[in-house]
Amino acid sequence: YIPLDKIPTWREENRSNDDGSELTGGGGISDKVSLHKGDITLLEVDAIVNAAKSSLLGGGGVDFCIHKAAGTCLYDECRSLNGCEIGKAKITCGYDLPARYVIHTVGPVAKNHVGQTERDDLASCYKNTLMLMAENNLRTVAFPCISTGIYGFPNLPAADIALNTVKNWIEHNSEKITRVIFCVFLETDFHIYKDKMSEMFKGS
Ligand code: ADP
Repeated sequence: YIPLDKIPTWREENRSNDDGSELTGGGGISDKVSLHKGDITLLEVDAIVNAAKSSLLGGGGVDFCIHKAAGTCLYDECRSLNGCEIGKAKITCGYDLPARYVIHTVGPVAKNHVGQTERDDLASCYKNTLMLMAENNLRTVAFPCISTGIYGFPNLPAADIALNTVKNWIEHNSEKITRVIFCVFLETDFHIYKDKMSEMFKGS
């Protein structure tokens, strides 16, 4: 298991500039976000996010890993939830996971077409998850790259939507969140997020 204090914030990780100055861009948001590459099921946070199917009854990818690590009680609780619409989110216990809760959100399928509906739905996944966090007084969360696996959303625009939606939400609800971890799994996503976050949090 990886405790939260072993995962540096973006600011901590990028502290030393060439000129010795600290990165202060992003209005304090760089203190509240992290980029972590690895298995989301190992993270000891208030909630990890599952990129689920609308049935909430198991799929491949990160959903499979989460159910495997959490145990069958998670499946039983999911069965009682009557599914989840695209863009919405539902919460369950974390069972055998180090995370206390799992927030299940259903991303848009974007295999053949990414239009405004798919973009809005993906943004809603992040926003509704963060709102559910606040409603349940949860402060630390890890997101996978929703929709970019089996659901086929292109990685670059998906990262843009993830980062901008979370940044915007933190800007308006700073007191409600302590840490958002972008838990990437693939090398390509790691580089995409690193580039975008460097751009987003650079400055002064
Ligand atoms: P979707 O159906 O929403 O596309 P997937 O699970 O297929 O969801 O993929 C979403 C992302 O989760 C992909 O980047 C995939 O590589 C990643 N992923 C798969 N397993 C894990 C894991 N154990 N921890 C974190 N991310 C994972």
